[in-house]
Amino acid sequence: MIKDILHKIKSSLPSSVTLVAVSKTKSKEQITEVYEAGQKDFGENYVQELCDKHEQLPKDIHWHFIGHLQSNKVKFIASFVHLIHSVDSLKLLLEINKEAKKNKRVINCLLQIYISGEETKFGFDFTECLDLLKSGELKQLANVNVVGFMGMASNTNDANQIHKEFSSLKKFQQSLVTNKHPLNVLSFGMSGDYKIAIEEGSNMIRIGSIIFGERDYSKK
Ligand SMILES: *Cc1c(COP(=O)(O)O)cnc(C)c1O
Repeated sequence: MIKDILHKIKSSLPSSVTLVAVSKTKSKEQITEVYEAGQKDFGENYVQELCDKHEQLPKDIHWHFIGHLQSNKVKFIASFVHLIHSVDSLKLLLEINKEAKKNKRVINCLLQIYISGEETKFGFDFTECLDLLKSGELKQLANVNVVGFMGMASNTNDANQIHKEFSSLKKFQQSLVTNKHPLNVLSFGMSGDYKIAIEEGSNMIRIGSIIFGERDYSKK
């Protein structure tokens, strides 16, 4: 049962850690089952799918956007999205600010940092991110609130490598404590590596397959 799995994961987590149930490709019925077991935070990767689910599912769900976000699609989610984890450019941040303003909202965002050695992962590198934080640009954006960072480790069985990658992000965040921004949300850890992530200081994990089962993309 989904419910038992959810409770088992939740009871193993330190209270400081927020669990985001990643529901991409999963049906309304499956999400409802997890929602009814007490889960309020859900993560989605695709704008259209997120909009459909937002419309059809209970309004007190906190919808997290965790996939690659194109600037021209921000407008579709700006009225309701709870946290955007995957901000990987200033251009995107400017667009989020613009759409948030239209909706009279402040949208919470994480800057996605590239921590793995893999070429396919999006994100700022540490230097680019530091430059952005120092530039003062963020303070101009009244309708965007950057609250922390998101990262994805390499897809590998090498636990040492994963430890190293997550730890680099935690250290980066700690090096910024003098900065005036409250950058305290650290979103890293998925089904395969969330235990390592928590050991390395994650306070927001994004778990899909161990809650919902493996994804079957062929059914989409
Ligand atoms: C799909 C996805 C997850 C969840 O992955 P699982 O391995 O199923 O837990 C987490 N984060 C992002 C960005 C994802 O795209």
